[in-house]
Amino acid sequence: MRRMRRCKILATLGPASADKDTIAALHRAGADMFRINMSHADHQGMRERISMIREVEKDAGRPIGILIDLQGPKLRIGAFADGPVTLVKGAQFTLDSDPAPGDATRVQLPHKEILGALAPGHVVLIDDGKVRLHIVEASPDRARAIVDVAGRISDRKGVSLPDTEIPVAAMTEKDRNDLEAGLNAGVDWVAVSFVQRPDDVAEVKKIARGRALVLAKIEKPQAISRLDEIIETADALMVARGDLGVEMPLEKVPGLQKRITRMTRRAGKPVVVATQMLESMIQSPVPTRAEVSDVATAVFEGADAVMLSAESAAGQYPVEAVATMNRIAEEVETDSVYRQVIAAQRAAAPDPTGADAIAVAARDMAETLDLKAVCAWTASGSTAFRIARERPNPPILALTPSPDTARRLAIVWGVHAVITKDASDIDDMARRASKFANREGFSEEGDRIIVVAGVPFGTPGATNMIRIGFCTAEN
Ligand code: PEP
Repeated sequence: MRRMRRCKILATLGPASADKDTIAALHRAGADMFRINMSHADHQGMRERISMIREVEKDAGRPIGILIDLQGPKLRIGAFADGPVTLVKGAQFTLDSDPAPGDATRVQLPHKEILGALAPGHVVLIDDGKVRLHIVEASPDRARAIVDVAGRISDRKGVSLPDTEIPVAAMTEKDRNDLEAGLNAGVDWVAVSFVQRPDDVAEVKKIARGRALVLAKIEKPQAISRLDEIIETADALMVARGDLGVEMPLEKVPGLQKRITRMTRRAGKPVVVATQMLESMIQSPVPTRAEVSDVATAVFEGADAVMLSAESAAGQYPVEAVATMNRIAEEVETDSVYRQVIAAQRAAAPDPTGADAIAVAARDMAETLDLKAVCAWTASGSTAFRIARERPNPPILALTPSPDTARRLAIVWGVHAVITKDASDIDDMARRASKFANREGFSEEGDRIIVVAGVPFGTPGATNMIRIGFCTAEN
């Protein structure tokens, strides 16, 4: 099964996609990787989904990536004595450490360390920003605020603090348990929520110890101000536009999306654009014009993947949503403007490493000679990551003996991974690359391809060979 697009599709699983048949249909429609949101899944549910995905993978004969998304330190207010309360503009409202049920004048904020970090002037957003307060007086046990945007709030609604550096790590006890369970169940990627600093990502990487790659969700202003360091630490980034659009003015999100996409692409790491991409398809079999345009913008920018959340997890049309994304990406990538936009955002110069010099040469040669594929023998996947960074016109065929590597590459722009045993020598490498290029539908007899590898084989990071391969019938 060959996809006719470079941009990948990440589909979130949930009640609307809880059985193997639906997961198989989502995969057929275009989903390359599945996301399990640990805010809504328990360990048993996660393991069941993983085993269904692995069955679909086996039936389809294609590697499929699995990502678990850790909930992170989601802050919530406490409960109210008599149901929801309405906060009026200009009124005072206090957040405190008292567990007694709240009313229209106060409620508990059951996170002591957060109360201590609030300061006068800080904004407090409740229920995805529907209600907005600003702090006028703060002490370690209580923070007095004035209501700027009125509204109704109810028990345990979420709290966002765009101005406050939260003095807690991005991982809670629940996240640690979920991470361990996910790693034991064989997930390929782990997403870290509410990242504020590079250390938040480093902590997860330290626990994962290479068993899964780590993606940093960018959804807090504090992460924006340390983007360079976070990109360097993480294996991939997500523009998590849901919470980003709560914590920052909505009109800033499109610019940030472009900035994050470009910076991450230049670092040669995958970047995912997420949230509300086809939101109306939760209830409707067709998207709005604006949603189509939004998905197209991410594809034009060269994002590695676009993501569906509730559309595939809880909507009425999960398969249609994936198929719609698939169609949009395919169409954009054949647009004559697409290559110009992609090329304009390419890194100005390769990093001074053998792998990058070869990746640039591979793209140059493939495009100059109009070759059918760039085939990369790769153990850890790093050669394929570096070639993808160059966004070559021909597809990238990654040949790897490692199922883990093949699955991790499911999120990477333009990469079609095939699991096969290592090549025995350079001729075998060229011969079998041509064979797979033919078999997977990239080339035919008489075509030529680029073959890239590290010799001796199986040495991660030793990309040092490039060759033009010929596709012959006996391949
Ligand atoms: C987001 O906020 O955009 C996001 C992807 O995170 P979650 O779905 O966990 O809210």
